[in-house]
Amino acid sequence: MSYNIDKPINLKKMKEIVLYLAKEVWGYKKTYYFVYLMDVLIKSMRPFINIIFPKLIIDELLGLRRMPVVITIVVVMIALNFVCGEIIVVTTQNLDKKYYDDIQKYLEAKIGLKIMKMNFESTENKQVLEKLQKAKESLGEGFSGGIRGIANTFSGMLSSIITLIGTIGIVLIHSKILILLVLVNVVINNFVSSKKNAVQFLNFKILSSISRSFNYFQVVLADIRYGKDVRLYNASDMMMTEIDGFYDKQINILKEQSTKISKYLGISSICSALTSGLCYFYMGYLALNRAIGIGDFSMLATASTTFIDAINSILKHLLDLQKKCVYANEYVSFMTLVQYNPTLGNRNLSGTNKFEIEFKNVSFRYPDTNIDVLKNISLRIQNGQRLSIVGQNGSGKTTLIKLLCRLYSVSEGEILLNGINILDYDYDEYIKKMTVVFQDFKILPLTIKENIALENTNNASDKEIISLLKRVGLKQKLDDLKEGLYSHVFKSYDLTGFEPSGGEQQKMAIARALYKNSPIVILDEPTAALDPIGEYEIYSQFNDLIGDKMAIYISHRLSSCKFCDKIAVLNEGKLCEYGTHDELIACNGIYANMYKVQAQYYI
Ligand code: ADP
Repeated sequence: MSYNIDKPINLKKMKEIVLYLAKEVWGYKKTYYFVYLMDVLIKSMRPFINIIFPKLIIDELLGLRRMPVVITIVVVMIALNFVCGEIIVVTTQNLDKKYYDDIQKYLEAKIGLKIMKMNFESTENKQVLEKLQKAKESLGEGFSGGIRGIANTFSGMLSSIITLIGTIGIVLIHSKILILLVLVNVVINNFVSSKKNAVQFLNFKILSSISRSFNYFQVVLADIRYGKDVRLYNASDMMMTEIDGFYDKQINILKEQSTKISKYLGISSICSALTSGLCYFYMGYLALNRAIGIGDFSMLATASTTFIDAINSILKHLLDLQKKCVYANEYVSFMTLVQYNPTLGNRNLSGTNKFEIEFKNVSFRYPDTNIDVLKNISLRIQNGQRLSIVGQNGSGKTTLIKLLCRLYSVSEGEILLNGINILDYDYDEYIKKMTVVFQDFKILPLTIKENIALENTNNASDKEIISLLKRVGLKQKLDDLKEGLYSHVFKSYDLTGFEPSGGEQQKMAIARALYKNSPIVILDEPTAALDPIGEYEIYSQFNDLIGDKMAIYISHRLSSCKFCDKIAVLNEGKLCEYGTHDELIACNGIYANMYKVQAQYYI
């Protein structure tokens, strides 16, 4: 990530950000640009009606005094003002109603897609999570104002530039001194606005970190999964106090900000009034000395005010856009984050039926840490073999599986599948060969069928899924449900949905794994919440169901070891024992010791 939020954003960067967003909008809704440009053009032309027509009226009144001509000019002026006003109302409404909300949702949805495509390593990385939070916030009302905020600021700037070019001709023809007065006004306003922006920008960083903590507490309080713990440990009062604290902090910062900003706004208004006064004074002087006519006086007066307004408006919008781009940059830089891509390999694996996995001198440390959680692991799993990996909590068992699933890449050594580094294989083909049920597997608030078949739901046969559910012991439950396979799990989307027990969820996760029918299956303690006997039953049932597939069972208990060909014992990231049950018992080491303690459950 190259851009640092502490640095002011330059024009080149602003251009990049605006272009990035413009391209996104172009890709999503091209018709938007037609309405947008129409809006800009009409807004920029409108001021000229009130610059030119009053001069024409005054000239006619002081000259030939033809009433029909005067009336015609007045009517055309009113009609043009009315038509422009109506077109602006229609285009603005159109942009607001038809486009901005949709585009905003589209941009926000793209954050979700980006996260889904990110490598897993990034989704656990503190800096990336911080960036994600800022990217989400950056599109909000109080920051960049989202696509509506940026597009409105940009259109304000564009129409002011067009207006400026028109008025420049009119003012310059009559007096250069007027331009000088205008510049004084511009410099003062510019200075004041930059001060104001600096205050708001500084607070963005502080508010962003407060709001992250605040959101966390709100999520915990609103999430029913935390309900039991929050109630039993009486944590709600503590949390409410924390939330009140966050509110107070936020309010104090915003109060302080508004005091500072109103001071700057006051100075800016006084200076504007003074310079405008000076302009009128100077033009009055020219008219009195007959250097300009009364019609010209009227036109110049309006043109020079419009000129000042246009320049101030350009600078105001430019600074505003700069500020908005600082926030929007959080979005753009997150969306363009380039990172190690675990999906790069392209070696074909589709026709392969036999698999041998080898960990070769594998060491691993998590990003931003300096402790090796796996130390020089070498291990071979043959085709069709059952391997049980056991060890205390924290000994590195899950990490080993994360590496095998390419959620992280090894720090040293390599993992081979059939003698080839796993990273060389096409990611989608590689991952299809594997089914993993992690300890923190998720049953989703979808129907039972969708939970089992997931992406293949449309082609899945009900009969096959029912038979699977029967085999994992859920047939009775299914028969009890009115909608059978089509019953919703949980009540989040369907109030009549059923709430499965922990054990039922585990059985559904196992049915899902069996349905995927991959040649390599991994169970990473999905049964940890069960008692040792229940766990043992699930493992042995699963073991029967998977036939001759390669299986890796992970546990800090020995439930799975009985029916495994080999057992690997991890301790503090090292592979300290490896062999069959009998061999390890004979060694009288860690495994034998664990076995003695837990034997009552498995004999
Ligand atoms: P096990 O599965 O044997 O319980 P893990 O593989 O989950 O052990 O964890 C091994 C070590 O790695 C532990 O010390 C754990 O704290 C650490 N660890 C796990 N995940 C992360 C992570 N995302 N970032 C940093 N350290 C981690």
